Amino acid sequence: MHDDCIFCKIANHVIESDYVYEDDLVCAFRDMNPAAPTHVLVVPKEHYETIVDGVPAQTLAAMTHAIDEVAKAEGISESGFRVISNAGPDADQVVKHLHFHVLGGRFLGEGLLAE
Ligand code: AMP
Repeated sequence: MHDDCIFCKIANHVIESDYVYEDDLVCAFRDMNPAAPTHVLVVPKEHYETIVDGVPAQTLAAMTHAIDEVAKAEGISESGFRVISNAGPDADQVVKHLHFHVLGGRFLGEGLLAE
């Protein structure tokens, strides 16, 4: 765990959050500045900076499973959802701990970059 990383602290319950799902490898909690009715962040408990930071296959599988569990719990499995992971400056990655944004609960627009 990185002591100066906010998502390390949330994922390991040093700081509590509004959790939607949790298992041994990952947790999912609500974004504090939601962009959609459902806006949940899926985060590994170990620290990786981005999706291409040597993340073990088991952790990636756990993140995929967590997305499925979040979608079911939020009732958006059928209506649909968008998964985004920002990596680096051009993507405006603010928190340098790997996370998947899971967005849904409304129509998210026609284009890939639509709000
Ligand atoms: P990004 O790094 O740009 O992919 O996005 C970081 C996201 O984390 C933003 O949507 C923030 O609103 C969210 N965020 C930052 N700090 C917290 C926190 N303490 N609890 C919940 N969400 C957070």
